[in-house]
Amino acid sequence: MTQRVAVVTGASSGIGAAAARALAADGWHVVVGARRLDRLETLAAEIGGTALALDVTDDASVDAFAAAVERCDLLVNNAGGAVGTTPLAEADLDEWRWMYDVNVLGTVRVTKALLPKLVASGDGLVVTIGSIAAREPYKGGAGYNAAKHAEAALTRVLRLELLEQPLRVCEIDPGMVETEFSLVRFAGDAERAAKVYEGITPLSAEDVAEAIRWVASLPAHVNIDTMMIMPRSQAGASVVHREP
Ligand code: NAP
Repeated sequence: MTQRVAVVTGASSGIGAAAARALAADGWHVVVGARRLDRLETLAAEIGGTALALDVTDDASVDAFAAAVERCDLLVNNAGGAVGTTPLAEADLDEWRWMYDVNVLGTVRVTKALLPKLVASGDGLVVTIGSIAAREPYKGGAGYNAAKHAEAALTRVLRLELLEQPLRVCEIDPGMVETEFSLVRFAGDAERAAKVYEGITPLSAEDVAEAIRWVASLPAHVNIDTMMIMPRSQAGASVVHREP
């Protein structure tokens, strides 16, 4: 296989699906992974990529996924999300476990499994999709804040530890992006999810995908360490200007 290969986790929806499309349009062969294989197969057919089932919280699933990936030049650690906005005083530890497992351990599992292939490519790149929640705490965000802060920490450690290897590491931290994120966070409550974006023009999944595509298009000696991308009307985790 001479074409460069990008692996995108959580590609059945939102930022991951948009990133897969943007990368494919830029010449990458894209391997898309997530739990909803039907969606992935439709996407892979559209972009000429490869669909593989992946549950980043399951060791065996990650091992099977990584074994099926022949070559990996770019890994986009995108699978993740939030559940609930429960205040810390009433913390639901199952919500915390879910968020830690998918965002933190999921990123560790997939990165660890694909690192040998990334390094062997001679010009590997890991892009991890963090969040403004990785930079700033906000009320109701404790579990997600903790998970995204941890994901950011492990991403920065990876950069330090593999500095002598031909590997670039980038963390992209978006603000509000209109995807299925809020629908997942509010357990399918569409009305509540829509309120999150009321009165603002949020980022689209394509806006973030374009940043991923650009980072991956740079010459091998250029490492974008971190990038924050916000809607114009958002200037912090809880600083949002809404039009009436
Ligand atoms: P989304 O539309 O809900 O997409 C989340 C993706 O993650 C889906 O494809 C989902 O696929 C996948 N996923 C969830 N659990 C998984 C698991 N156990 N194994 C494999 N894949 C899994 O949300 P999104 O906004 O695109 O989120 C993408 C990333 O951006 C997440 O890391 C999120 O934290 C981050 N982010 C989002 C926002 C925002 O405002 N939307 C802002 C900052 C950061 P399946 O359900 O099919 O497995």
